[in-house]
Amino acid sequence: MADLPENVLTELGFRYDPSDLYQQVIGDVLHACQTMDLPRHLQLILAQPKNEIIMHFPVQLDSGEYKLFKGYRVQHNNILGPYKGGLRFHAGVSLDHVKSLAVLMTMKNSLVRLPLGGAKGGVQVDPRSLSQDELMRVSRRFTSAMGDNIGPDYDIPAPDVGTGAQIMAWIADTYVNMSPATTRWTGQAVVTGKPVEFGGSQGREKATGQGVVYILEELLPEMGIDLNGMTYSLVGYGNVGSWVARLLTPHQSVLKCVIDHTGAIINEKGIDPVKLAAHVDEMGGVGGYEAADEMTEDEFYKTRVDLMVPAALEQMIDARKAEMVNCKVVAEAANAPTTPPGERILKDRGISILPAILCNSGGVTVSYFEWRQNRQAESWDEETVDKNLRRHMYAAAQRVKLAAHRYECDMRTAAYCAALDQIDKVYKIRGIFP
Ligand code: GLU
Repeated sequence: MADLPENVLTELGFRYDPSDLYQQVIGDVLHACQTMDLPRHLQLILAQPKNEIIMHFPVQLDSGEYKLFKGYRVQHNNILGPYKGGLRFHAGVSLDHVKSLAVLMTMKNSLVRLPLGGAKGGVQVDPRSLSQDELMRVSRRFTSAMGDNIGPDYDIPAPDVGTGAQIMAWIADTYVNMSPATTRWTGQAVVTGKPVEFGGSQGREKATGQGVVYILEELLPEMGIDLNGMTYSLVGYGNVGSWVARLLTPHQSVLKCVIDHTGAIINEKGIDPVKLAAHVDEMGGVGGYEAADEMTEDEFYKTRVDLMVPAALEQMIDARKAEMVNCKVVAEAANAPTTPPGERILKDRGISILPAILCNSGGVTVSYFEWRQNRQAESWDEETVDKNLRRHMYAAAQRVKLAAHRYECDMRTAAYCAALDQIDKVYKIRGIFP
């Protein structure tokens, strides 16, 4: 990530704080705007979300007690189309995080050329602390709190960390039940990432991981890494990490080590992705997996691999970890996993970064396919979904390469430039109301 262009942030009243995630993300966007010499008013518009909604809502727990929950929906920009982006259920959800992730949605949707804007939301809760019934009540009550701030033509949420197909089904069901009977079925398209039986798309569950693998197939060979026999490590083994691992198996890539909140594990001969996924399903994390040895966090980062894939939360690769990282390429499957000081160190050490808005845009791309299928009352087979996803990911990778060449910049700045190019064009065509 780039240093903060302070002038625009100062004009908007930000108190300069380089450790703040929002300022880091906006810093990157503004750096790309300045690389392209984009108009100042566009920089000001993009440096703040359009709407920031904070909701407090009570839910009854199984014990009979009531608890007050805090939910967010941040709608960053909708110049390209309806707002789109996930909902996160996590104890660390804050306005600052949701705002940052909403900006990244605007950027990735534009980079992949989806006719969608950017948004993000969430509830500050550890979903593992709730029973299934409590989780359902939180999801339904959060949906009613969001009310008309979401809708199939306006803002379309999706899964993110701590949410999944079941929660999307509860949200869609609540929304549909709150809609007038005559338009009820169009209401199903209010969220994507639903179960296939209830309007979901084939290939959506694996989509983010599949998108990462398409990007690796497209870019790694020209960076001198053959997927066949390549060694790699994963930070996080949730939906994205485990699908990256499963989809790299046919390439004969070797998963050497994995770290998550329960520990770090290594097997020099390779870890079986499917068996590890079964262990994580049962135990809640990679810790205690029998077919690998335990290691410390520092040992994990120092382990030599060709590729490291951060697939967990933001700001994981800080300066300290970047000093230890021992790989040729970092592919950012998570959103904003590298801090600006971490990025500087990786660059100085000659480690290339495949930026998040390129690597992890496969999830929202298949979400877009789901939304299209719902609205056209169609259902595509998995082959069609994969073929279209591959096409979108390869085209996005080409755009990033072209921008890197044109602006003589690193891949992250290039990815933002390729995204901003489209946003700038549409602002120029549409003009600013009135
Ligand atoms: N939460 C995912 C992301 O960060 C998917 C968003 C969506 O499908 O709308 O890209």
